Amino acid sequence: MMEQYHEIKAANLGLLLFYRMGDFYELFFDDAEVASRALGITLTKRGKHLGQDIPMCGVPVERADDYLHRLIALGHRVAVCEQTEDPAAARARKSVVRRDVVRLITPGTLTEDTLLDARANNYLLAIARAKAAGGDRIGLAWIDISTSEFIVTECSGPELAATLARINPNEAIVTDALYSDPEYGPLLRELAAVTPLTRDVFDSATAERRLCDYFAVATMDGLAAMSRLEATAAAACITYVERTQLGKKPPLSPPSRELSGATMAIDPATRANLELTRTLAGERRGSLLDAIDCTVTAAGSRLLAQRLAAPLTDAEAIAHRLDAVAAFVAEPMLRDSLRSTLRAAPDMSRALARLSVGRGGPRDLAALRDGVLAADDALAQLGTLAELPQEIRAAAAALRRPSRDLAQEFSKALAEELPLQKRDGGFVRGNYLPALDEARELRDASRQVVAAMQARYADDTGIKTLKIRHNNVLGYFVEVTAQHGDRLMTAPLNATFIHRQTLAGQVRFTTAELGEIEAKIANAGERALGLELEVFEQLAAMVIAAGDDLRAAAQAFALLDVTLALAKLAADDNYVRPEVDSSLAFAIEGGRHPVVEQALKRDGQPFIANACDLSPAPGQQSGQIWLLTGPNMAGKSTFLRQNALIALLAQIGSFVPASRARIGIVDRLFSRVGAADDLARGRSTFMVEMVETAVILNQASDRALVILDEIGRGTATFDGLSIAWAAIEHLHEANRCRALFATHYHELTALSSKLPRLFNATVRVKEWHGEVVFLHEVMPGSADRSYGIQVAKLAGLPPSVISRAKAVLAKLEANDRGQSVRALADDLPLFALTARAPAEPALPSEAEQLIEAVRGLHPDEMSPREALEALYALQAKL
Ligand code: ADP
Repeated sequence: MMEQYHEIKAANLGLLLFYRMGDFYELFFDDAEVASRALGITLTKRGKHLGQDIPMCGVPVERADDYLHRLIALGHRVAVCEQTEDPAAARARKSVVRRDVVRLITPGTLTEDTLLDARANNYLLAIARAKAAGGDRIGLAWIDISTSEFIVTECSGPELAATLARINPNEAIVTDALYSDPEYGPLLRELAAVTPLTRDVFDSATAERRLCDYFAVATMDGLAAMSRLEATAAAACITYVERTQLGKKPPLSPPSRELSGATMAIDPATRANLELTRTLAGERRGSLLDAIDCTVTAAGSRLLAQRLAAPLTDAEAIAHRLDAVAAFVAEPMLRDSLRSTLRAAPDMSRALARLSVGRGGPRDLAALRDGVLAADDALAQLGTLAELPQEIRAAAAALRRPSRDLAQEFSKALAEELPLQKRDGGFVRGNYLPALDEARELRDASRQVVAAMQARYADDTGIKTLKIRHNNVLGYFVEVTAQHGDRLMTAPLNATFIHRQTLAGQVRFTTAELGEIEAKIANAGERALGLELEVFEQLAAMVIAAGDDLRAAAQAFALLDVTLALAKLAADDNYVRPEVDSSLAFAIEGGRHPVVEQALKRDGQPFIANACDLSPAPGQQSGQIWLLTGPNMAGKSTFLRQNALIALLAQIGSFVPASRARIGIVDRLFSRVGAADDLARGRSTFMVEMVETAVILNQASDRALVILDEIGRGTATFDGLSIAWAAIEHLHEANRCRALFATHYHELTALSSKLPRLFNATVRVKEWHGEVVFLHEVMPGSADRSYGIQVAKLAGLPPSVISRAKAVLAKLEANDRGQSVRALADDLPLFALTARAPAEPALPSEAEQLIEAVRGLHPDEMSPREALEALYALQAKL
């Protein structure tokens, strides 16, 4: 057996081998150690290999899904090896049971409901790199085989981090070389699961042929127009899918190509800081996605998450989405009734995918039937709208596509109550197939014969308590209590009753007659099941044949769900339709933070709405920078984030929490908000902050929106102030982007006298009986004090510490650091003005000329007189 094990293991290196032995999957050697640690199950030993104990652990087959789920979530890949013959046959051959790997389970290639998160896509991503003169190009292709989505795109090397954060793959495949590349390796190793593969999978020469084979077409022309690099990644994806599905081909939509620049670029730090899909603590609850997700289907929830990950940059496409949402904002009744229709519509795309790879069950068939029926229902309701916006019209057309015959046939064929597995039988309705009815009647009639037989045996033997029972080991048997056992074992009854088993309280017998009837029942049952499985295959074939239409309908449902959900959100939380155009405007009136507002509402507290206007002033070509001062806890971070989130919501095609909003397309969103030590990578808070700030200052263009919170806080006051100062100048002069900058350094407000597009704003607080009251109102001007000590008092610092701090502050304020810093605004030439003229070499300054002159002296070679003359010459230069 161990020989067989090693052979199978060698063919599946890098995977944990679940080796079937009876009712358990066993793992051996290193696999056992890995699994026992990951799953917290006992590690045991079994036999010896090369004189050493063999470590082993096992999981019961009926609970395997649970364990698989945990291993996959940890990024492991598993090969499931089953017994492929009856152990009795092997015994007859005097050999080990035949076994074969029947499934490879990897994080990126799942289809089972039990292993998937219903509300999230499950992506497998292939990453291919090409070195080029102007810098690396990266080709990306990602597939969700549980929904058939297939997308390709290309980006540059520096854009990879943001692209990975957006796609958020469950598993990535790369070449060994890329995996160990010093530049990309660290980035890749941060992903949930990465599988390095040999070069041949990423062979660009054979990519096109592999793609054509998969889609069974002669040329790629009919598929998406792809770059060579995208095709290479796409081919790698399908090769890996074929490998893991052991040759089965899950149906995939032809690859759709995402143009670079079509979506708002958001780097990983910004996504994390703005808590888009999870909070900084890692929870979905409290994230933006959680706050806006009013979808009622899993597919809708997945689509909303996709949209949020990739806001659009095309004003027209955004307007189409907004038109659709607007149509349902105006129709509350229709919205509610459509939503309840959708609530009943099942996850068609995942059911379809499972059926296509032969892993579907009767409930998947029912899901497609119910989906088609729900489509009719939805269409009837949509028909009541006077005019359908373009997106909804397209969705309605898709809902009309699947043939209604399919639903009718399924309604006739499928029973009311359905088992999970087809092998359990009983899912085909009576009166559907005469031969099946016959087999079932025979099976049931035989059961009645058994009941009659029991009555007759009880009569014949005079044992009233005699029963005929059934179990899997003995099949049908006669059972009497121990006291009657002897009677049946002595003549004449022992001619009929053959002893099989004696238990503590019962004795069990069989009879020739019972054996016969049992065979009949088993035959009829088997025949019935066989017929049912045939019906199943026919229905599944209908589904697969109609795959494209069903998939289109499933996507239409998801789109409707998202649109309705956003409309409901807009109506419930009082959102408005934003104007999105190609200007550089950013004018929000009455803006609110979508998540904080909901949290406050739950506590019965109002959220104070605030305006923000970063639009270019008349006569200006670039947007403004707001410099926001105010004490801690005043609401600076909330204000900063809310404006970023409003832009983001607008560009996914959602209404926004404001009374009015006009937004010129933002192509990149940057934020540096809050800071957490990245100890895992050995970086201090300050280092993280500086790395993130560097990315912003190096990359933001005039279409970007930048949110910076308390830059420079993590170092000594003057260092921090100086860095913040220089960063603002750079944003204003070099990046020229729309930006919000919150700071503690009130001194920075002096910069507005120098920088025409810098605007000072502050969050109002009131002092009342020595306490500070937060009004959360943002208005022009700057904060005069930071109220740090009052906030510390609110936080419960001991009174002695508070009064001592007040005394220290009074002393420090006497020295008035601010005065000298404010003078700087007048004295210092702007950073950017000197830095922006690199074309002409700057003239050396006086000091530099002197230094040069001193450097040019060679005292050892000078006479005393020459030395003296040199000294005079230097002095003359001063
Ligand atoms: P800061 O960044 O200035 O320290 P925060 O933005 O973290 O302050 O806000 C502190 C708290 O004040 C928030 O947790 C929130 O509960 C409340 N808050 C902030 N802005 C508002 C607002 N506009 N309306 C009502 N409450 C607010």
